[in-house]
Amino acid sequence: MSYDINNVFAKILRGEIPCTKVFEDQHVLAFNDINPKAPIHILVIPKRAYTCFEDFTKNAPDLEISAYFKSLSTLIETLKIPSGYRLVMNKGPHSGQIVFHFHTHILAGKPLGELVCA
Ligand code: AMP
Repeated sequence: MSYDINNVFAKILRGEIPCTKVFEDQHVLAFNDINPKAPIHILVIPKRAYTCFEDFTKNAPDLEISAYFKSLSTLIETLKIPSGYRLVMNKGPHSGQIVFHFHTHILAGKPLGELVCA
């Protein structure tokens, strides 16, 4: 799949759509999900254009991959979440991915239930 430069996260990165920013550095932007599924629901995205986890890990330079995961880790540390969290990366139709700019969901703040609905 080719990257659609008009996806919603690309628009957020260009400042065309607002977001509630929670973290930003050279490589990464993190903001609150517009339709939160838990009291803490943050999306962490690389600033460059990748459609999904596979695209990111295959095609991003090592420096960017490492910076992404280190920033994700730093952000989680900063949040000081007492009772744990879940990280989700959706890829493709069976996962329910709707935005085709690679992102990680951070979900926390309540018991999150089963990993997958039956
Ligand atoms: P996914 O199913 O992994 O592609 O999830 C995409 C997420 O992006 C969903 O949880 C949406 O609620 C969220 N989302 C869509 N548009 C926006 C937006 N403008 N600002 C923040 N989050 C958004």
